[in-house]
Amino acid sequence: MEIDACGVCRSDWHAWRGDWGEQFEPGHVFGHEPAGHVVAVGEEVETVSEGDHVTVPFHLCDGTCQRCRNGHSNLCENGVNLGLEHGSMGAFAEQLSVSNADFNVVRLPDGVSSIDMAGLGCRFMTAFHALNHQADVGGGDWVAVHGCGGVGLSAVHIADALGASVVAVDLDDDKLATAAELGAAETVNAGEEDDVPGAVHAASGGGAHVSLDALGIAETCTNSVMSLRPRGTHVQIGLTPAEQEGGIPIPTDLMVLQETEIVGSFGMPAPRYDEIFRMIEAGSIDPSAVVSGTIGIQDVSDTLDAMSGYGTSGIPVVDHF
Ligand SMILES: [Zn+2]
Ligand SMILES: [Zn+2]
Repeated sequence: MEIDACGVCRSDWHAWRGDWGEQFEPGHVFGHEPAGHVVAVGEEVETVSEGDHVTVPFHLCDGTCQRCRNGHSNLCENGVNLGLEHGSMGAFAEQLSVSNADFNVVRLPDGVSSIDMAGLGCRFMTAFHALNHQADVGGGDWVAVHGCGGVGLSAVHIADALGASVVAVDLDDDKLATAAELGAAETVNAGEEDDVPGAVHAASGGGAHVSLDALGIAETCTNSVMSLRPRGTHVQIGLTPAEQEGGIPIPTDLMVLQETEIVGSFGMPAPRYDEIFRMIEAGSIDPSAVVSGTIGIQDVSDTLDAMSGYGTSGIPVVDHF
């Protein structure tokens, strides 16, 4: 596929820092939120055609293993995380080769732009899967979102569209203002609040039914678990930086006493994109609402650098290469 647009994600930043145990050499290509057009197809490809307007989930799968056949291709036994592993060249590039295209390539609806759809490769669909499939959020639920970066803001927007009431939590007033624009009923500035879970409990009349850690640091994870009402569901979306060594202590006793459910969420199986597209077509969600602006390929390093200080907002998208 020829890349028209590719989002810059905190996962690129994690990989760029070497947070997950792999150091990448100069010459490696990051980028895993592409949208673009098919320019050539392999001989065995049956359902994808030249000219198709497409995206791909960041977790490319084989489509044939037991997990893929059971509907969990995001956890494919032979999966490859685009641009996030050695040997996988990512989408900060003019063109991208997609393996097992019949399964991995997702055709976009008519009339949408590549820039607006870039987040569908990772952050927007990750938030959608977390809320819809992992936590089963419904109308009348209170949903707390801890961390209002690209995936967090996507979660605010989608949870609001699902009929939930959202409490957005962040340190940055501008990000909280954006969260409010995207549908958050309440906002909590964690920098000004000594007791963040207490503030969420107060805002939601007794605690969230579902709470998301959209960042992956100790504060946001712990606050998320403690923001729940009894029998609530914590969903972990954010992956941790190196300092956490892959784990965060969580309030275990509270989990027992309140029958807390703890759920992980990783990407989204490609066959479920249709659900997102139906909601876009119905006008209830709009991925472009989370896109914060466009940059050139030469600006990616500065953008990653800015993420170290949480200096980016929403989903920045590369649109010229
Ligand atoms: Zn598989
Ligand atoms: Zn990502």
